[in-house]
Amino acid sequence: MTAVRAHIKAHSSSPHILLFNNLININQNGPLKCTPNVKQRFGPLESSFPLLGKKPSPFATFKKQPTVEELQDMLLTEIKRSSEDDEPSFVPPPFCGDEGIVMSGEDAATELVQNLGDPTFKSKGFIPNLECPVLDEMAAKTREKAAGYMEETPMMCSVFPCDTLIPLQHHNETMSYSTLLLGSILWMIWPPTERNLTLLHRAYDEFAIDPDEEKFNIANELTGGVVFVQTASEGLRVPPYCIMLGLATENSVLAKYSLLSATQFTAMLHKLPFLESWWKTEAHGKEKRADFALALLPRIKRILAGDFDPYPPAEFLLTGQKGGALFELVKGWEQVNSSIASLVDGETAKGIKEVWVDFLCKVVGRNCALCTGYLQDKRKEMLAHFQDVHWPKEKVGETSEPMEGVEMTGGDVTKSD
Ligand SMILES: [Zn+2]
Repeated sequence: MTAVRAHIKAHSSSPHILLFNNLININQNGPLKCTPNVKQRFGPLESSFPLLGKKPSPFATFKKQPTVEELQDMLLTEIKRSSEDDEPSFVPPPFCGDEGIVMSGEDAATELVQNLGDPTFKSKGFIPNLECPVLDEMAAKTREKAAGYMEETPMMCSVFPCDTLIPLQHHNETMSYSTLLLGSILWMIWPPTERNLTLLHRAYDEFAIDPDEEKFNIANELTGGVVFVQTASEGLRVPPYCIMLGLATENSVLAKYSLLSATQFTAMLHKLPFLESWWKTEAHGKEKRADFALALLPRIKRILAGDFDPYPPAEFLLTGQKGGALFELVKGWEQVNSSIASLVDGETAKGIKEVWVDFLCKVVGRNCALCTGYLQDKRKEMLAHFQDVHWPKEKVGETSEPMEGVEMTGGDVTKSD
């Protein structure tokens, strides 16, 4: 904790530092090196707890860190490329109310990168999640192996000018691995306990009704958090659904990629009501929701096809298997099917029913694997049974148009983009 306090003292001129000071001194959030009791609040596994150091960084084995000039060259190339693809590259968009656009996102991002070496440079925004194929290539051999994982994101860079507050938000459903390539960031990370997530859920709901950033001033109500400084070249692994707040205490460049496992996906299905509230607070929430909904079918299909389990799905009822992606999906289906039905369009709903019927007809014993009380292996009858018993009556979203584009949801590093 001495290092954190010294860091806070050294950056005491930051307008946001008092918040962190209070979170430590008044709200008693502690250091990352903590007792097993504090760790336990994050979850039962070693991987449930944030990890800081060389290990989570795919760049740790490099002989030397990139210089400011090398980073500038790389980022300027990527900004140019992303602008050609019409990707957003600056948050908040550098618009000036009624006066119209004063600077393009590309120009604002370029200006920020050109000034990375100037500690006195002031900027009103930051660059979120800029894809960096060059870094991807550099880290291709050293990043966490994706075996058993469902999906992984490409390497993305975020660039924060000094004194940027990275607002309170939940980390998405993935396990993320970030490396600070330049600067320093003071982090507070809280465990995804039911109490903490309920408080954040409420803040999302309130913000959706009245979009006032004050609604997110709930950090002092969250409990069990840990505080630490991530310095240049250090890696940080963050588990799903932790709640995060950050402060860039220098001009900082953060490179990050994420892995989504099949069991993280099935666990996430139980958090759909939380995500529905979060999407309402996001600048591109509707698109994110639509992308997410469209990605559900291929993910569910792979789990029901047995891609992530060591036994054939046909033997589901015979193995007595407890745990694993298929087991969790089957066990939790009745609790999540309503949220899914109201999220997806008609095409996706049809597809989800089809992949379930494929699975249910395949399971040896011909009992319905969901309720074990129904004997049938004919597709038509099984579909009727599934619709009748295992799909909600109220099919809210099924009349909407099919959606395009598939993307892993955000929720980390940048709350809005
Ligand atoms: Zn059934």
